[in-house]
Amino acid sequence: MARYTGPVCKLCRREGEKMFLKGSRCYSPKCAMEKRNYAPGQHGKTKMGRNERGSDYARQLRAKQRARRTYGILERQFRRYFSSASKTRGLTGLNLLQTLELRFDNVVYRMGLADSRAQARQLVNHGHFSVNGVKSDIPSMLIRLGDTVTVREGSQKLTFFKEMADIAEKRPAALWLDRDLKGWSGRVTRLPERAEIDGSLDEQLIVEYYSR
Ligand code: SF4
Repeated sequence: MARYTGPVCKLCRREGEKMFLKGSRCYSPKCAMEKRNYAPGQHGKTKMGRNERGSDYARQLRAKQRARRTYGILERQFRRYFSSASKTRGLTGLNLLQTLELRFDNVVYRMGLADSRAQARQLVNHGHFSVNGVKSDIPSMLIRLGDTVTVREGSQKLTFFKEMADIAEKRPAALWLDRDLKGWSGRVTRLPERAEIDGSLDEQLIVEYYSR
């Protein structure tokens, strides 16, 4: 599955908010939002650069882009998630956010075993994890209720994972995951509730965007 490979900090600058896409760097003074807190491009320092005209369309577009970029997904895939969420029983916006949360790379991130979703995606891609005992390396795979994600035996010995386990101890895992750091695993025990998902995402505006 393709992914965005351009400059990442530009995305935060475009949205005018930190989206924490780069792990520890986001908490340091090196963060681009600390140094250049204006939109990228020639007109970035003007109001127009931040698209602050405030039309309904502009707000809907920004909400959709923000969610897409937070989870590192390209437009076509995101639209597919929306389409499937709209066909599922319940609130479309919440269905969409729950689908995004249950992506394989996001589950690894929520287990605390990666600094960012981008890093989680790379770890999954490199085959360090299994799902229900079967090696899986597709970051977009959706983890289901009751599934267990485990760091594979060979990878548990790597210095990276030993260090990451120490860091993960200090990070809380998502409440909808039963994390067992000693067993290098996490099990999805229930669907994430809205309050447990990034509060800066506005699913209502995303639904409006795709319903135009
Ligand atoms: Fe965004 Fe992190 Fe880059 Fe700061 S360092 S602009 S929070 S991705």
